[in-house]
Amino acid sequence: MSISQIARDIKESPTLAMNEAARLLREKGEAVIHLGAGEPKTKVPIDAVLDSAAKLTTAEIRYTPTEGIPSLIKAVIRYTEENYNKIVGPKNIIVSNGAKHSLYNIMLTILNPQDEVIILAPYWVSYPDIVKMVHGVPIIVKPEDGRFHPRMEDIVEKVGSYTKAIIVNSPNNPSGVVYSADFIREIVEFCEKKGIYLIMDDIYHRLIFDGKTAPSCYDYSKDDSDSSHLIVINGVSKLYAMTGFRVGWTIANEKIIKAMINVQGQNSTCVSVVLQTAAAAALNGIQSCVENLRLTLENNRNVIMTELNAFTGVKTIKPEGTFYCLPDFRAYEKNSTKLANFLLEKAMVVTVPGGEFGMEGHLRLSFCGTIKDIMTGVARIKWALDPESPNEIYIGDRKLRRDWK
Ligand code: PMP
Repeated sequence: MSISQIARDIKESPTLAMNEAARLLREKGEAVIHLGAGEPKTKVPIDAVLDSAAKLTTAEIRYTPTEGIPSLIKAVIRYTEENYNKIVGPKNIIVSNGAKHSLYNIMLTILNPQDEVIILAPYWVSYPDIVKMVHGVPIIVKPEDGRFHPRMEDIVEKVGSYTKAIIVNSPNNPSGVVYSADFIREIVEFCEKKGIYLIMDDIYHRLIFDGKTAPSCYDYSKDDSDSSHLIVINGVSKLYAMTGFRVGWTIANEKIIKAMINVQGQNSTCVSVVLQTAAAAALNGIQSCVENLRLTLENNRNVIMTELNAFTGVKTIKPEGTFYCLPDFRAYEKNSTKLANFLLEKAMVVTVPGGEFGMEGHLRLSFCGTIKDIMTGVARIKWALDPESPNEIYIGDRKLRRDWK
């Protein structure tokens, strides 16, 4: 059986691999705690449920225009004006099957084979593979040790004649860092000067804490023309807890969107009308669900920080947004995959190895679960790693004794 070079180069998703290992342990009756999740646990907004159910009961579920149904396009226009203070038109928008699909289709639309895309570490695991899948070359820029924010000069150093785009994800998965307004201004100015596309992955842009807001790339753009190099990706997965609905969108200049419609027309036709209807309802509906989720996550962030700060040897940069943090565990173990496997085996806690995000020696911990899970999860990690912590712990109804160093 022959498998393509591309398919062989694509790694198994580390998050899915950990989920599967956890599922098998749960099946065996183990009391697994999941600090690896990438989705909020809140309910889908009621407007989304009712409108999509009403659409379904018409029993007329057909293809839609490739770029999306007019009501969702209109909702995205309004959303962009309200949240970015930016006026866009229907010709600047295409709706895809989740932000991941938006990213894949934008890469198909702008990259030629061997074109390079700059990715800032720590980065969302899927970026390098998405770039590779369209025969592009991911170029990773790492921050200085101990920071989660590459410097502009390190980015500039990696830009060459093959550079087609830079991806910026802020608030950032996996670090929770929000890039500063100065940085966003610099990178917008740089990309516009060089004629490089700046892809802003804004999927978490309203999940921000401490009264801050995410700087918008549009605020610093000097090129409002039809050849703007700014591309903004967004979706309903995280803010509206609608991961299963698979709706994301891209905002870009008309020429890009036109080409992307042709690309999408051949790789998926359109997003299901039922799910687009749900997304439009979420965007047009009562927005308190987003604020409630944000408040819950801010509280969870405070809890996990208190727990981690009391953990000798672990260094954590306080997340300013999202529902992830990326503590540095190098004092205990430098190999994050080994550490994540050890914690699952001994403490029954699911984490995601930082190496997968370009940040070896760190673990990504999610705080989108319950307070109880966060506290118990961190307590178990502490028990497994910190020789100063009490020697015995209950995991489920089993009393365990630490018998390793
Ligand atoms: N970008 C980032 C940074 C993400 O974390 C995710 C989801 N984990 C996505 C994009 C994809 O989101 P969607 O569910 O809309 O495909």
